[in-house]
Amino acid sequence: MSRHDYHVHPPALSYNKRFLMGVLLNIGFIAIEVFYGVKSNSMALIADAVHNVSDVLGLLVAWFGYLLAHKTAPSKFTFGFKNATIIAAFINAILLFIAVIGLAWEAVQRLQQQEAITSSTIITVATVGVFIKGLAAYLFFQGKDKDINIKGAFLHMILDAAISLGVVVAGFLMLWKSWTWIDPAISLMIAAVIFIGSWQLFKGSLDLMLLAVPANIDLKQLKKVLDHHPGLISYHDLHVWPLSTTEAALSAHLVVKQEYFQPMFSKSLEEKLQQDFDISHLTLQLEVEERAGKCATDCSHSAA
Ligand SMILES: [Zn+2]
Ligand SMILES: [Zn+2]
Ligand SMILES: [Zn+2]
Repeated sequence: MSRHDYHVHPPALSYNKRFLMGVLLNIGFIAIEVFYGVKSNSMALIADAVHNVSDVLGLLVAWFGYLLAHKTAPSKFTFGFKNATIIAAFINAILLFIAVIGLAWEAVQRLQQQEAITSSTIITVATVGVFIKGLAAYLFFQGKDKDINIKGAFLHMILDAAISLGVVVAGFLMLWKSWTWIDPAISLMIAAVIFIGSWQLFKGSLDLMLLAVPANIDLKQLKKVLDHHPGLISYHDLHVWPLSTTEAALSAHLVVKQEYFQPMFSKSLEEKLQQDFDISHLTLQLEVEERAGKCATDCSHSAA
């Protein structure tokens, strides 16, 4: 009773182009930051370069996951490689944690041993950063509500633009007051911001790995729909789990009166669940009242 042709994938090519442009923009900016960071002796620029390296890795991991998810898998992978998108999000979070630790470590050492910095260079490079990150955010704006990976990339680029803006402000402060501690302090703030973002990504992807109901599906509302479906006496062995960062599956046993025990019964329910809850893979098993009592002992983890 599953319908696997229901969901529509966005064209793969356009995402590929977006990812490629995102990666190239970031690599170009890393080169600029490293060059001028060393030249102007700015920890903040180097810190942001490190953070951008982790961004490129993250984009590559997300991209790889996306490609795998849309690749035809050997027949033993009956779900395809959809799950790769979830693993990609998880690895992404781990990479960000590593980058954060490195950044924080460097910044703390710089706070203890402050050095002279060329503020004007920092201001110029960070201003370029605001525009590059803004452009990158725009690349991911379209798909952001559909996919946790795209949303992650979008939020990340917005945050990065904000960080660069902060560095511009800090550059002016250094120019004005010649406070050398601002540079490592900004680096620490960058580390903190990355940590918060990666913690959310870590938690979200871990939930999906543990087969939690995807965040965009309201389980209470779904149960309400089942409770109020005409002819449905009860249900058990209800499972809702993620197949990828964008797709979900549902299976359930539905107990119905004898006169409703026919294939047409679940059709309207199937359509409602697919449309209202965006569940692409549905398996509903009909049971008549008498058999249901017996089945309850078979299903050890009844969810109803
Ligand atoms: Zn970033
Ligand atoms: Zn079960
Ligand atoms: Zn059952």
